[in-house]
Amino acid sequence: MNDKVLVVLSGGQDSTTCLYWAIERFGRENVSSLTFDYGQRHRIELAAAAEIADFAGVPNAILPIDTFAALGGDALTAADIAVASGLNEKTGLPNTFVPGRNLVFLTFAAAFAYQRNIAHLVTGVAQTDYSGYPDCREETLKTLQTAIQKGMESEIQIHTPLMHLSKKEAVELAQDLGALPAMAMTHTCYNGERPPCGHCPACELRARGFEEAGVIDPLLL
Ligand code: ZN
Repeated sequence: MNDKVLVVLSGGQDSTTCLYWAIERFGRENVSSLTFDYGQRHRIELAAAAEIADFAGVPNAILPIDTFAALGGDALTAADIAVASGLNEKTGLPNTFVPGRNLVFLTFAAAFAYQRNIAHLVTGVAQTDYSGYPDCREETLKTLQTAIQKGMESEIQIHTPLMHLSKKEAVELAQDLGALPAMAMTHTCYNGERPPCGHCPACELRARGFEEAGVIDPLLL
């Protein structure tokens, strides 16, 4: 095992907090970041991730996975499905749920890390007061880590520092880690707007976290 760590960086608030968590825990020289281009409607996310990594002083790589849009049916990759319409009628899950996304991302991230002798992965998933994505739950991540370790004959570890934090606690952690300046570059809005629209589920969740923590969102300054 070594101290090299790969952060899955989406360009959003949570993965940015994780980037700073990794820098503090493993040392900046050991940290790199990986961003997935999965055909997301909001290309602004890719630019945000690159900007944040640059600001934090760590390398960033972008990995294209253009399969999800071809699968169809979710509001984050399909331009004809409105985020605001809420839940998928069949599954009861938010229509922003991209089935298998985190499983695929982390498996690719693990393969990317394996090739570079990186022993740790960090992802910003959380099961607390979020949208209820089943691939963000701790049990899913633990099981996936086991599958990856067995499938790659590797000791690679998946770290989920935000797993049990509320949005308020995640903001407080970001503050403690000195991640707030980078928050001004993050992208959260499901409608892809900058400045953020303020009324989509992602904007509302983000706003509530900052409000409860008593911190002004640097994105809005
Ligand atoms: Zn929004």
